[in-house]
Amino acid sequence: MDLRDAWEIRESVNRRKVSAAEVVEAALARIEAADPVLRAFLTVEPERVRARASETDAVLVRGNGSLPLAGVPVAVKDNICTRGVRTTCGSKMLFNYTPPYSATVIERLERAGAIVLGKTNCDEFAMGSSTENSAFQVTRNPYDLDRVPGGSSGGSAVAVAAGMAALALGSETGGSVRQPASFCNVLGLKPTYGRLSRYGLVAFASSLDNVAPLANSARDLAVFLSVIAGRDWHDSTSAPAPVPDYVAEINQPVRGMRVGVPREFFGEGLDPQVKKIIDAGIRNAVALGCEVSDVSLPHTQYAIADYYIIAPAEASSNLARYDAVRYGYRTPNPRDLSDMYRRSRGEGFGSEVKRRVMIGTYALSSGYYEAYYARAMKVRTLIRQDYDRAFEKVEALLTPVSPTPPFKIGERIEDPLAMYLSDIYTVTANLAGIPALSLPCGFTPDGLPVGLQILGNQFQESTVLRLASAYMQACPVSAPPLKV
Ligand code: GLN
Repeated sequence: MDLRDAWEIRESVNRRKVSAAEVVEAALARIEAADPVLRAFLTVEPERVRARASETDAVLVRGNGSLPLAGVPVAVKDNICTRGVRTTCGSKMLFNYTPPYSATVIERLERAGAIVLGKTNCDEFAMGSSTENSAFQVTRNPYDLDRVPGGSSGGSAVAVAAGMAALALGSETGGSVRQPASFCNVLGLKPTYGRLSRYGLVAFASSLDNVAPLANSARDLAVFLSVIAGRDWHDSTSAPAPVPDYVAEINQPVRGMRVGVPREFFGEGLDPQVKKIIDAGIRNAVALGCEVSDVSLPHTQYAIADYYIIAPAEASSNLARYDAVRYGYRTPNPRDLSDMYRRSRGEGFGSEVKRRVMIGTYALSSGYYEAYYARAMKVRTLIRQDYDRAFEKVEALLTPVSPTPPFKIGERIEDPLAMYLSDIYTVTANLAGIPALSLPCGFTPDGLPVGLQILGNQFQESTVLRLASAYMQACPVSAPPLKV
């Protein structure tokens, strides 16, 4: 059984060729074999997984029916709440937190017959681009064990890349699903802001945060998105826009699709090997019949500065809730209440989280708010308007995902600016609220994966998925063998 193909799994389970119980046995065996090296998972509870699979089998037999994700094993980033299963956000602050409720996306997955396999490693509170900021462990890239899998949803990307899970959920604030997807040769989709409920996603920067799916094919992403998308009364920012049948939509032709290439995404800092692979990807789109033209997104140069004001500002506010009173880490023997706050937060948060809280608090403080946060919000509007103008002319945009291939473990962890700069091509989609996807485009001569980004207009996930699907069918990437 190919654990990397969710569609095949659900077809086989719905036709009773294989049971959900057998599927999860295979997934658990793969985790047992590969994860001691890759370290993608923080929590796997095999007995709970087996019990859920048997329940799903019983539901299928009793109802004599089928389910859209029957028996499909899903890995879930550890900042998405799962009732009764530890949810740490990769932080010592929440090392013992077990949520009393599940995120809406989890409820919808389980209703569709999917089985949550376990919780995956991530940068602490999703702050980072390498998964090295986890308080617990370092996750390895399955194509080169000395390199990072990307981040912050690194564990989720590795789980689907290495065939430990068929699908995975990650989260996106500034590229945390697209960049690891690019680094691990899988697909990752950041949907339109509001397309997916954020209820049960632990907040980092609320105006930028999204739940975001990962898979090994466009068809799998389409069925995944159809199951989890849509209005949720628990999240007032979830959009009422109707959910299309994404699986039907991806089969529409792409010939004649107008596609733009923004010149600002090909300047200084782009690794020549990555550029070569992306240029070939753009030629492939031409060969598919897309009408490719040059476009400009002039405010892209301000994107990193803009994002790294807005995201920390919102984070400093969101993370104020970790006061050690009702849940989470509490320092032993505090002297008094303020000592308890100070030491619990000082000991519970890692250095990147503290850096963001300090930057954000500064940017929001009186006297500086206008100069930093208010100004950053104006720049955000300019970035958004760049995209509005581009989408008057084209339906989709093609760009690199990351300026470099996966980098070495330890290479950037002491240099936060170098780490932040690696988000240059991804943060604008979050600032503008538009859908964006990373798909496998090629490998460098050293055998490192490189992803191609497709961006679309608000709520045009169908367009993005359709182009991804046509591209992958016409130009499949032949990957070197996994290291595990
Ligand atoms: N790398 C970016 C950051 O560190 C994006 C993180 C994310 O998308 N969650 O903020």
